Amino acid sequence: MNSDQIKHLITQYPIVKDLIELKKTVWFNSQFTTLDEGLPYVGLTQNDIDDARDRLARFAPYLMTVFPETTVTDGIIESELIAIPNMQHAVEAHFGQDIYGKLWLKKDSHLPISGSIKARGGIYEVLYHAEKLALQAGLLTVDDDYSKLNSPEFKTFFSQYSIAVGSTGNLGLSIGIMSAKLGLDVTVHMSADARQWKKDKLRSHGVTVIEYDQDYGVAVQEGRKAALENPNCFFIDDENSQNLFLGYSVAGERLKKQLEQKNITVDHDHPLFVYLPCGVGGGPGGVAFGLKMAFGDHVHCIFAEPTHSPCMLLGVATGLHDEISVQDIGIDNITAADGLAVGRASGFVGRAMERLLDGFYTLDDQTMYTLLGILHQSEHLKLEPSALAGMLGPILISQHKAYAALHQFTEQQLENANHIVWGTGGGMVPTEEMENYLKKALA
Ligand SMILES: *Cc1c(COP(=O)(O)O)cnc(C)c1O
Repeated sequence: MNSDQIKHLITQYPIVKDLIELKKTVWFNSQFTTLDEGLPYVGLTQNDIDDARDRLARFAPYLMTVFPETTVTDGIIESELIAIPNMQHAVEAHFGQDIYGKLWLKKDSHLPISGSIKARGGIYEVLYHAEKLALQAGLLTVDDDYSKLNSPEFKTFFSQYSIAVGSTGNLGLSIGIMSAKLGLDVTVHMSADARQWKKDKLRSHGVTVIEYDQDYGVAVQEGRKAALENPNCFFIDDENSQNLFLGYSVAGERLKKQLEQKNITVDHDHPLFVYLPCGVGGGPGGVAFGLKMAFGDHVHCIFAEPTHSPCMLLGVATGLHDEISVQDIGIDNITAADGLAVGRASGFVGRAMERLLDGFYTLDDQTMYTLLGILHQSEHLKLEPSALAGMLGPILISQHKAYAALHQFTEQQLENANHIVWGTGGGMVPTEEMENYLKKALA
């Protein structure tokens, strides 16, 4: 974009000026609709979520066999929901702002196999693809016990096929580990942001890792290109994949069960707020879709992005979606939140979900580090910087009366609210790396 085009964009959408100036920005979606009105635009239904849930259930016996750490959840890759009262007090004191209602953490950081939210969508898409190959070859039926996939015959069969993906780290980790376990030939194209330990870990699993000096967009582009040259190669398209999205979406009904078990009500009088860190958008978008299907209009989904990578906010607020990148308006897409270092949002997710997302905000890297330190101190939990992006949300929603006004909340409804911060990653961060994060938290 040239400077006249940027000026024109700012005239139309004043928020763009704040984004360019890297201001911490809060944007509430005044165009939000009910689920009934918004659902047709998603293009997916409850049947699609059920299909994903059933497929994951078919794979559960296999996952228990090859990843024994999934045995405690019967082969279902799911995380705990925990109350974090000490953290609630600590952030309230730090920001001088009370949070209405109660604060929770969804520990996707500690999901088995790859320690991040990508253990949902990334693994699901690999399983989807592997199942399709095996069904087509007549080696498997949906009524089989899928633990038979853990055999030399199946590994030989899968070794004829390859998988490619572009990633800032965690998606590559999930897809790489899962594909290699099945015997697929897998290549991960890693952006410059990717942490060294993630590349090392992948190589130790026999995954081919190709490194780029550029950002996520370039890694994806190169992965796509390499995959085109090989007809037996399947490219996992994080920017457009409906399967990835559906892999994330099953989280909605599972969270509903977890809340029921804790006797937590979600209804008109007890709103639920969920804060999701956003990179390209598939993870938070898919989870938000599942949440809306599970809780209807009583759940409010808020996306969090770094001030240096506000791609989804930029795309949704301007309606340009994937036709604009943060680099187009002079933002560098450089952030310590490597999981969120994406310059151009998924066009599919933005267009599908823009009516059902309730708000966005941006925050700077230091705030993520600070929250990382406070969480460690107050609850003895270790997350990676990206995963803390959602933690500012409950403060902002409580602070900005405009949100309550937009949704006509009463004082009582706000007092009854539950706030879930989606802790998207960090469970596998090496000790030394975590110590560096904690040092930065004190800066
Ligand atoms: C990938 C990732 C996200 C965001 O998911 P997207 O699908 O890229 O939007 C958030 N947090 C962490 C730790 C991640 O790895």
